[in-house]
Amino acid sequence: MSDKTYQHIDLHMHSTASDGKLTPSELLALAHQEGVEMLALTDHDTTAGLAEASSAASEHGIKLINGCELSVAWKKIPLHMVALGFDKDCPRMAFWTQRNQAVRLERGRQIADLLRKKGLPDLFDKAVEEAGQSQLGRPHFAKVMVREGIVKDINKAFDHYLGNKKLGQIRDVWPQLEDIVPDLAATGCELIMAHPKRYPLTVTKLKSVLQDFKILGGTAIEVASGNERPDYVRFLERLSRDFEFKASAGSDYHGPFGPWTQVGRYTQVHEQEISPIWYQW
Ligand code: AMP
Ligand code: MN
Ligand code: MN
Ligand code: MN
Repeated sequence: MSDKTYQHIDLHMHSTASDGKLTPSELLALAHQEGVEMLALTDHDTTAGLAEASSAASEHGIKLINGCELSVAWKKIPLHMVALGFDKDCPRMAFWTQRNQAVRLERGRQIADLLRKKGLPDLFDKAVEEAGQSQLGRPHFAKVMVREGIVKDINKAFDHYLGNKKLGQIRDVWPQLEDIVPDLAATGCELIMAHPKRYPLTVTKLKSVLQDFKILGGTAIEVASGNERPDYVRFLERLSRDFEFKASAGSDYHGPFGPWTQVGRYTQVHEQEISPIWYQW
């Protein structure tokens, strides 16, 4: 059992396999430099970076936990669920990631069509090209929109076109919690409600999500995922106790741009008051 304190743990980060800036090897090298001793690579809807991450992790003496951030939905509201600790060959994980990868392409087509109806050029091919080998996502559309001079920066692309409640946030495409959670829970992996602060949910609705998530087989919530305010972390820690969830934490690092914190950095958590998910590893 691990006795590592949270300062050496980062259980949420992205590489070039999804919308991160660094390759898995570059990410592991940076994490090592920053003093991270246990890490989960959690790319959006793919496990393609895990093999490279695994060899880089052994090189640096870092404990790697297999991870993936899955796009899911609760009553048509898009949410993110981090899965941790599954086997790299897990067939159920392969099923859901492949399904979501197909959705990402179809959704990209839908986003491009909606933007075209707003009078913008067709950005689909450029976004696909921008994504290359990575999973196509809204950040690729955002980059293309900046490059084409449609918006000033990535933030503006999300504010006006792609973010919460804007046209690029296509609803009703991701697997419902009641389908995906019990199916993956049966494999014995950890299922974590990611960054609860980032959804357009009232506290009442958030508690309702967590209640359903718990009943379906969810095992944890992320109490810190970047630079939330300390009182919000306290609030999530309290929720983790109330619902008897384990607590997870990570930087959600994507690269040295945008709203992200540095690798291995996030608001302080209080290990005495939670059940840290990493103690088992
Ligand atoms: P997608 O996975 O295609 O649904 O896109 C969601 C991703 O967009 C998130 O994981 C973030 O990486 C990114 N994102 C969301 N909002 C912003 C923002 N305001 N600025 C930069 N990136 C963002
Ligand atoms: Mn992302
Ligand atoms: Mn997320
Ligand atoms: Mn993430």
